[in-house]
Amino acid sequence: MAAGSRTKYALDLNDAIAFPDGAHVPAFPPDEGESWIILLEIVRDTSVARPSYQTRCKIGVPFVVALYTETPLKDRDDLRYCSPGNVLCLTSARPKTFLDGSTGFRVEDASTIQALPVSLDQLKKINKDLCERSDKGQLEMCYNCNKPAQNKCAGCRARYCSKDCQKAHWHAGHKRECKAVKALHVWNRTDWG
Ligand SMILES: [Zn+2]
Ligand SMILES: [Zn+2]
Repeated sequence: MAAGSRTKYALDLNDAIAFPDGAHVPAFPPDEGESWIILLEIVRDTSVARPSYQTRCKIGVPFVVALYTETPLKDRDDLRYCSPGNVLCLTSARPKTFLDGSTGFRVEDASTIQALPVSLDQLKKINKDLCERSDKGQLEMCYNCNKPAQNKCAGCRARYCSKDCQKAHWHAGHKRECKAVKALHVWNRTDWG
């Protein structure tokens, strides 16, 4: 591909290998060069001594997510988005059974968890929109109005034709969606092994 050619965006959040649902979570650690993301939506904040959340996966299977990181809420800036209705993304996590019999994930490394201030449905909608924009060759056009664009969002690198258009889009919802767009682009470029 020639330098400067358009980036292809074709991420499939239904890909059972890259984004396993609760019925297909791998039981073994990833092989070298292999990884996956488990997408969970927070249902309830059940934190007591340490941060923990009742969540459900994209097919509705319930999972507890408990943080055993050393400084749980300061390790990662985006953990402030750990609130009901938002998405938690766990990298290459494997489920375990907790002492109370519930099934879930014990997160020990803060770099393996990311919270996004959007719901699972919103994440799917943003992903579908990016796929459509890519198919239409619009990824390099203004994210708000599809005119030729030079400016870039500092967060997700989305393009904008002008500061005014970028501001309008930010207030129309990109403020909330920017982190999700950034994460989706990273996943789109990932080789899942
Ligand atoms: Zn524009
Ligand atoms: Zn952005």
